[in-house]
Amino acid sequence: MSQDTIKIHDKYFKPYISAEEIKLRVSAIGGALSKRYKYEDKVIVIGVLNGAFIFMADLVRACKFQTDIRFVKAKSYEGTASTGSITIDKPETLEVKGQHVILVEDIIDTGFTMRHVVDMLNQSKPKSLTVVTLLQKPSALEYPVQIDEVGFSIPPAFVVGYGLDYDDLGRNLPDIYQLAEETPPIV
Ligand code: IMP
Repeated sequence: MSQDTIKIHDKYFKPYISAEEIKLRVSAIGGALSKRYKYEDKVIVIGVLNGAFIFMADLVRACKFQTDIRFVKAKSYEGTASTGSITIDKPETLEVKGQHVILVEDIIDTGFTMRHVVDMLNQSKPKSLTVVTLLQKPSALEYPVQIDEVGFSIPPAFVVGYGLDYDDLGRNLPDIYQLAEETPPIV
């Protein structure tokens, strides 16, 4: 992994979690889910866009059961702060009555997004629901939600990469970077 600080828009980010570390955790979570759903014919796996698209792509390939893959688009962030309101498109994606469901998020910060999506899913009465997130900021959990699998618990600093963005940029970075508190000196 490069040790270099990177710049996105006006902010600097430093290397935080390497692609290798992510790969190991994703494989472990895929293994745990594969054990849990070993005897099921099919599981609906719902990714929360945009951030979960890369995690979801790697996770489903680490799962050894039949998957019905869906995405729902939810947005609660602008810049580096939560807006406190949420929009969800295509709510029919969350119609899962009597079926096993895995919900996949990139990061749970306040819990607001997940709580909203979980409430909508539960209205549809799934047979079971497993919530998976790559990252969790535990100190910021204002809206309690049951989380079954967590890749990494991290402090409340803003992160980018591996699907996560800062104002639409940074999602394609293979590693995860954390907001640097201080701007590095110009050399
Ligand atoms: P919550 O609703 O406050 O839990 O925020 C969850 C959503 O906010 C995630 O799906 C992300 O899209 C976004 N988010 C939260 N923290 C970060 C971060 O550190 N970097 C990038 N996006 C974030």
